[in-house]
Amino acid sequence: MNRLQRIFTYCFCGALIVGAGMLHAQGMPVGTSEPFGPANPFYTASTLPFHAAPFDKIKDGDYQPAIMAGMEQQIKEMDVIANDPAAPTFDNTLVAMERSGLLLTRAMSAFNLITGANTNPGLQHLQEVLAPRLAAHQDAIFLNAKLFARVKTIYEKRSSLGLDAESLRLVEYYYQQFVKAGANLSDADKVKLKKLNEEESALGASFTNKLLAAAKAGAYSTTDPAALAGLSESEKAADAEAARERKQQGWVLAMQNTTQQPVLASLTNRATRRAVFEASWKRAEHGDDNDTRAIIARLAQLRAQKAALLGYPNFASWMLTDQMAKTADVALRFVETLAPAATANAAREASDIQALIDAQKGGFTVQPWDWEFYSEQVRKAKYDIDESQLKPYFELNTVLQDGVFYAAHKLYGINFKERKDLPVYQPDVRVFEVTDAEGSPLALWYFDYYKRDNKNGGAWMDSLVGQSRLLGTLPVVFNVCNFTKPAPGQPALISYEDVTTMFHEFGHGLHGIFSSVNYPSLSGTQVPRDFVEFPSQFNEHWASEPTVFSHYAKHYQTGKLMPAELAAKLEKAQTFNQGYKLTELLAAADLDLRWHTLPATTDLKDTDAFEADALQKAKLAIAYVPPRYRSSYFLHIWANGYSAGYYAYLWSEMLDDDAYQWFEDHGGLTRANGDRFRRMVLSRGYTEDLQKLYFNWAGHDPSIEPMLKIRGLKEKVAK
Ligand SMILES: [Zn+2]
Repeated sequence: MNRLQRIFTYCFCGALIVGAGMLHAQGMPVGTSEPFGPANPFYTASTLPFHAAPFDKIKDGDYQPAIMAGMEQQIKEMDVIANDPAAPTFDNTLVAMERSGLLLTRAMSAFNLITGANTNPGLQHLQEVLAPRLAAHQDAIFLNAKLFARVKTIYEKRSSLGLDAESLRLVEYYYQQFVKAGANLSDADKVKLKKLNEEESALGASFTNKLLAAAKAGAYSTTDPAALAGLSESEKAADAEAARERKQQGWVLAMQNTTQQPVLASLTNRATRRAVFEASWKRAEHGDDNDTRAIIARLAQLRAQKAALLGYPNFASWMLTDQMAKTADVALRFVETLAPAATANAAREASDIQALIDAQKGGFTVQPWDWEFYSEQVRKAKYDIDESQLKPYFELNTVLQDGVFYAAHKLYGINFKERKDLPVYQPDVRVFEVTDAEGSPLALWYFDYYKRDNKNGGAWMDSLVGQSRLLGTLPVVFNVCNFTKPAPGQPALISYEDVTTMFHEFGHGLHGIFSSVNYPSLSGTQVPRDFVEFPSQFNEHWASEPTVFSHYAKHYQTGKLMPAELAAKLEKAQTFNQGYKLTELLAAADLDLRWHTLPATTDLKDTDAFEADALQKAKLAIAYVPPRYRSSYFLHIWANGYSAGYYAYLWSEMLDDDAYQWFEDHGGLTRANGDRFRRMVLSRGYTEDLQKLYFNWAGHDPSIEPMLKIRGLKEKVAK
């Protein structure tokens, strides 16, 4: 994706995807009713250090006029480039494009941050109104034939232009983005493509709505209190409330989006467990209005047709052209290579569970609806850890200073100093200036850690200003999380999961902070989906690295280090149930790729048979491990932008585990290792082919072995 498109997706992890339904927002008149002029805080670049956003001056009403004027301005800039009478050159075309849209970027970066982290109904409405405008803005640029003709001319002559490596990469990058968007098509084919795109987006929205209704209508309900044995009083109260809201008697167990339902871990009544599981599994397959199977059959078909129109054998091949994996075959092989180790371990876990069922004289064979219930018992027996025992060792500020910052200082020599002089949008937000080992300024890093009810769920990283030597900008990055805010005067004690989230988001942060490139389109975290989680997941490893862990995991009152026995339990618990977890992810990733490698002639009648067959072929049809998402409720791939991309989570994991193994093999936490990783990986953005970049750094292609070892699945692979 290019910089323009990325305006929508600066966020990672929890908040990556902007609702697909947005394109169907009401066509409310937008207009630039408020005049856009010097009084608007986005009118000129910020004069604050690092061009930080003047949050004390920005009012909700400033966004819309600035964004509308920003789009208008960029279209004018693009028109000037497209209609330049001079022959196309790298400078008068691509560099000029890189310099365009500054106002739009300024306003959209702040708007995206605020609508994710501190929104309100007015801003939410504005988001819906702007989404189709912004999509049309993209099209106006990428389907501009004159502009593409210039890009193409430069692309064809690129090797004779004497360009440096990064500039050459920019040429290839732009050409690829235009082609991917359909710029090479004839006018007639462009019309066809547009039609398919429209149908795809309408079907995606319809899928989303049907699924939402299906999950609501299909939720398990009962009037028999005995059916709910095992649930706590507060859980039952919430379920009774859910029933009241639906004007039903008894209790309703709201359905989660995954196949497995967390409530299955506590329900002692096996018949209820089965009913809850089946409600989830069949939620969108009742042959009623909420049945999604016809939609997915058509979506798979039209995506295959779209790919054929664009000259690719299948949709996955088209989607993966600008990803690190590059081809659907590589992604599919990756998924299927992991399958034997994952399923072998799931089988071992199943036998532990079966032993427990037998010991309790259950008299049945483990089924998917039993898994959560018994695995929770196995977990308790094997690694009983009480969260309340751990939390006193994880005080937020100590974790930040003595864990997250400490590891980054050890590895990269960087330092952090809090700045109280810069405006923030909410009083809990804090700002740090990051300086390099020798004291030069590197970036601003903000964090907004506490949960609020006007913040999206999950955790993410956001860039307010991207690094670029061309534009003379240094990075301004944000980490946003949803930790529970302590009562006034109380310490912020967090879970170990929260600790790893801090390291994770800071890893994205470092990818932005260390960026050292010329062109904004290739800067920082603007890399493909199957690479973007690599720096963040890699940084998570330092949370449990012994010297780092023992530096921050100290009791908030006594300052004493976490007892070794407790730390060992915590470490061990990380590998629990990994066979199951990996198998269900692989099954979902495999389904995604198989749906998106169908030929354009596909006309599927029976989506269930296709699904069963696909899992069989991949040796992932395991009775007690259903896919994490079934095709008929796989929102990621049908409507949320992860089509042919669900494998990316695991792909990034392979990279980060392999990279951590490299560190272990080369002396671990050292400045030399850190500086090398920074120079060859973290600072490079998307200025080089990522396969090459990784190879050059590691000295080998990434291997799945370290991932299997870390997930506790290693010994099965050696065979
Ligand atoms: Zn992430």
